[in-house]
Amino acid sequence: MKNTSLIRVLVFAGALTILSSCKNATNMTDNNPLLESFNTPHQSAPFDKISEVHYMPAFKSALETGRNEIKAIIENPEPPDYTNTIEALEHAGRLLTRVSTIFFNLNSAETNEEIQAIAREVSPLLSDYSNDIWLNHQLFDRVKTVFETNQTNNRLTKEQLKLLDNTYKGFTRRGALLDGDKKARYREISSELAQLSLQFGENVLAETNDFTLHISDEKDLSGLPEAVVEAAAQLAGEKNKEGWLFTLHFPSYNPFMKYADNRALREKMFRAYTTRGNQPNGRNNNEIIQKTVALRLEKAQLLGYPNHADYVLAERMAKTPDRVNEFLNELLVSSLPFAQKEMEEVKAYAQKLGFNEPLQRWDFAYYSEKLKSSRFDLSDEMTKPYFQLSKVKQGIFDLTNRLWGITYKPNPEIPVYNKEVEAFEVFDEDGSFLAVLYLDFFPRPGKQGGAWMTSYREQHLENGHDVRPHISVVTNFTRPTPTRPSLLTYNEVTTFLHEFGHALHGMLSRVTYESMAGTSVYRDFVELPSQIMENWARQEEWLHQVAVHYQTGNPIPSQLVDKIIASANFQSGYATVRQLSFGLNDMAWHTISHPVNEEVCTFEEKAMAPTELFPKVEGSCMSTAFSHIFDGGYAAGYYGYKWAEVLDADAFDLFKKNGIFDRETARSFRSNILEKGGTDDPMTLYVNFRGHEPSIEPLLERNGLVVSRNKD
Ligand SMILES: [Zn+2]
Repeated sequence: MKNTSLIRVLVFAGALTILSSCKNATNMTDNNPLLESFNTPHQSAPFDKISEVHYMPAFKSALETGRNEIKAIIENPEPPDYTNTIEALEHAGRLLTRVSTIFFNLNSAETNEEIQAIAREVSPLLSDYSNDIWLNHQLFDRVKTVFETNQTNNRLTKEQLKLLDNTYKGFTRRGALLDGDKKARYREISSELAQLSLQFGENVLAETNDFTLHISDEKDLSGLPEAVVEAAAQLAGEKNKEGWLFTLHFPSYNPFMKYADNRALREKMFRAYTTRGNQPNGRNNNEIIQKTVALRLEKAQLLGYPNHADYVLAERMAKTPDRVNEFLNELLVSSLPFAQKEMEEVKAYAQKLGFNEPLQRWDFAYYSEKLKSSRFDLSDEMTKPYFQLSKVKQGIFDLTNRLWGITYKPNPEIPVYNKEVEAFEVFDEDGSFLAVLYLDFFPRPGKQGGAWMTSYREQHLENGHDVRPHISVVTNFTRPTPTRPSLLTYNEVTTFLHEFGHALHGMLSRVTYESMAGTSVYRDFVELPSQIMENWARQEEWLHQVAVHYQTGNPIPSQLVDKIIASANFQSGYATVRQLSFGLNDMAWHTISHPVNEEVCTFEEKAMAPTELFPKVEGSCMSTAFSHIFDGGYAAGYYGYKWAEVLDADAFDLFKKNGIFDRETARSFRSNILEKGGTDDPMTLYVNFRGHEPSIEPLLERNGLVVSRNKD
């Protein structure tokens, strides 16, 4: 699972994507391109006309319009019904959605200090707006009336029922049904939790930034690749130090642990990394964790759930903590023997190299890397000449053409926010227009790292007319040079496929309401369309089509393809068990029924014990820097990484059975999953496609974690 790839989900209004056609342009907003109708191909964003000065007035005007629309719903003299309340709420604030979408997308892909300052200024205004909706009891009273009436008088379509349910839950899951003291307590807890999460993150960041390993003796660099040494020298230079500096940030820490021959320094780095947030200093996260889990528990119980995991999972495909724990344990039983075997292999290889002490955590990556290179003789430099960006792009276009008949036509008339961005019109097999697609490949100073998919406009119906989406894929691939085209690593090829899968989810959407379009699905379901696409990068047939040497034009040698595929499973048992240990730890913290008073490390040790493969390291603690769950959206959700892999492997298994380019399987995947967005329960959508609930077998098989089995 890539940590770098993510979907940008706009969180500004806390949820309802909001639209409306009325526009109260005031004088200060005259000639503001963000507030006028877009006179561009497919009403795409007029990037060429927008400048920083337009944002704040546009936000203010759009916020006012949105508030007026909400007020109109509340003050409607008619009794509340589906159309005048639920649908009206879905449609309220459309102008704000438009402005926010453009603004926040650019803040990620093409930002500058001015835009960042606007982001800081506007964020509290947006959260006030969101609170004005979700905490508004008059508005909730109307929603509740419609919800209750509908229990007895059901005349709504399935999608309407889903929107009604989403809207009602949007309020109740934020405490709308609580009265008096309880409601006040709920708000108190929410704001305290926000503070704790902020503090947790700041502590981890400070602890990460605070440590540096300063090397002044060149022989301590032994084993490290040249590029890593160069980066370390550069960092030292920036800090006016002689020699080399290494840090706990991934690009520095990770290669150091893999390659540095100096064992004592690896241990030093490891100990610094794994004691973050667990040292006797002002940045200790122990108490923050205890408070956080206690407050999450209290909040869940206020809302009527036994614990925080139950609260979270009620809105997930997995549904219950029991199901998640069962899932994690099922995978553990299958993968643990492999992980143990892999450990033994590493130990044996280390011994062969003359290392005879007990293998510690700071030795594992080091000897694994040596074992891996002895086994595979494969490096990025060997495969890169075969993965030319333009060919990979064409290969992905062709793949979707072969599966669904989709075609892409560049349109230079569509405005872009940077001249490097490519804009396409995307057409369906019958020639009808599907979407606008932006591709933005290369790093720039104003662009965030990593890769993501986002949208400028979600698909939806407007007065029965199908409004098609505007989707963007943003990456940070290596730039071409005057002598070399952009060449991708294999990992970047799969990243491209991954984000393109999210893009397809957005582009092929066919729903009624914007708030349920494309990738607006449960978090443990959203990675299915993206991860399934990565499977084609493991198929020889597809690789042979896209991988052609950029100088000689020769196709990639089969030998190299075999190595890529085989090396992908190197230590997959160990990697699986490690992911499971994080998932189990997360679930343990969020299924407590009483506050935790014991030491964080002690609690965690018990939770992760079934996965432990190493001798204990005193003072090391995972939870105290586990930002995913204490300063991110993954509380009771870390299992989702593995869950999505199980889904994508199981789903792709059908392609393997029917043919990886099989049109009928592709059609079914499209109509049952890609077009449906969040209009139905994901398990229902999945079973409609696959014919049964997901099974872990195909993933185990893909990862080489089955003992031996006859393949059909
Ligand atoms: Zn993703």
